[in-house]
Amino acid sequence: MQDWTFSRKKTVRFEGYKLLIDFPKTSSYYQNLPFIGEEEHCGCMYCRNYVEAILSFPESVQVLFHELGADLRKDAYVSHFFEDNKHYYISSYKVFGKILSKPELELIEIGNPNLEGYFKVGIQTIESSGNSVIDLYIKVELPWLLENETN
Ligand SMILES: [Zn+2]
Repeated sequence: MQDWTFSRKKTVRFEGYKLLIDFPKTSSYYQNLPFIGEEEHCGCMYCRNYVEAILSFPESVQVLFHELGADLRKDAYVSHFFEDNKHYYISSYKVFGKILSKPELELIEIGNPNLEGYFKVGIQTIESSGNSVIDLYIKVELPWLLENETN
């Protein structure tokens, strides 16, 4: 007998992480969400600046989100910090699935020719939601891209 729920799951590997992802559930979750920076999400200038910078994110991260069925431009809980004249962000994305194995160093530093500063990705289980939801978070230093607006 075939377990249909099993066929929904797919294995995704990323920088030492091995994930079992519920692709249909993740992509349908993202489908109807507002974009980051829109009023429905949060229209503040920090969120809008984050969205502007997404096109400059490393290709491996763009590919990862595509494989997960997630959308970099949606959902994320975005935090902004301004320090030493630089804009730091932590953004957190929800993905349906679980972590099968993780690398020793859980926060992965990813080189990015498009951006100065660091770009890091980590993946963790959201404990309060059982073991079927994971949190993918990005720590990044971004340039200020919005015109006519400063911090
Ligand atoms: Zn905001």
